[in-house]
Amino acid sequence: MRVDNPTVSFEFFPPKTAEGEVKLFEAIHTLDVVKPDFVSVTYGAGGSTRERTIKVACDIFAKTGYRTIAHLTCVGATRAEVRAILEQYEQAGITDILALRGDPAEGPTAPWITTPDGFTHADELVQMAHSFGSFEIGVAAFPNMHPSATSFEQGVDVLMRKEELGATFAVTQFVFQPEAYVRLTTELARRGSTLTIYPGIMPVTSFRQFTRMLDFANGEIPDAVMAEFQRHQHDPASMREIGINIATRVSEEVLDAGAEGLHFYTLNTASSTLEVIKRLGVRASTIL
Ligand SMILES: Cc1cc2nc3c(=O)[nH]c(=O)nc-3n(C[C@H](O)[C@H](O)[C@H](O)COP(=O)(O)OP(=O)(O)OC[C@H]3O[C@@H](n4cnc5c(N)ncnc54)[C@H](O)[C@@H]3O)c2cc1C
Repeated sequence: MRVDNPTVSFEFFPPKTAEGEVKLFEAIHTLDVVKPDFVSVTYGAGGSTRERTIKVACDIFAKTGYRTIAHLTCVGATRAEVRAILEQYEQAGITDILALRGDPAEGPTAPWITTPDGFTHADELVQMAHSFGSFEIGVAAFPNMHPSATSFEQGVDVLMRKEELGATFAVTQFVFQPEAYVRLTTELARRGSTLTIYPGIMPVTSFRQFTRMLDFANGEIPDAVMAEFQRHQHDPASMREIGINIATRVSEEVLDAGAEGLHFYTLNTASSTLEVIKRLGVRASTIL
């Protein structure tokens, strides 16, 4: 059953250039019409954007006042370094952390090598962030299992453990199969979890962008969706329209299944995300 006022939130990444930063804030400005419930800022693969993530998350928070969730990973960092980043966020007034393990440089299925005096799994980061007492902590969820998880049940065990250690919400990998999201949330509820699970919604706009996601998809993309994108890969207008249609349909289905909100992977652009939100009518009172 649908909740009355589902949340709407956006994921951004920290741009590499000053020009990229201008574009990011243009997108944020355009999306402001939606009055997002929160935004999140990713942490580059391999910890590569450490300083930029901190800067961009703090800038967004300072300029917009949005509840800003800073992604943080354990890649290549000692416990002391991770603690120092958490202290920076605490001082900047950032109250939400998405506690993640991150991936080895070779990708999500490559063996994880723990940095000396670092973390092996994200649950340890959840525990550290929770020990501050000042953070709301979110974690990653995978409707079709993490690529290295041994079973669906083990993935659910991991989420239950993170909840016990202090996580209160999770954001999912992009959802293309609403039934997988429903299966995950149903199983968590059956086990007594009260985690809020925000489905990740990706309005795909280009084939190149779509193929870059496939490494992380782990079966999230149904064959029919794949075939449709492939068929239109050389036609940008059709790609965009299909991407918007699919994101709208997935959003409708997860909302029908009781999702408390939608977290859009914006890739720092506004127009497709805004179009999906308009079609859904979820912010009809704020979007003219
Ligand atoms: C919404 C979302 C946002 C993301 N943002 C970023 C980002 O900003 N930057 C980035 O680099 N990556 C990001 N990622 C990717 C993420 O870092 C990878 O998917 C990573 O491989 C797993 O992260 P995790 O936090 O789930 O790790 P973990 O919880 O450590 O899980 C990794 C593997 O270990 C297993 N596992 C977990 N805990 C235990 C345990 N105690 N004992 C045994 N096995 C265990 C899990 O089942 C899984 O197979 C994001 C993913 C999602 C879904």
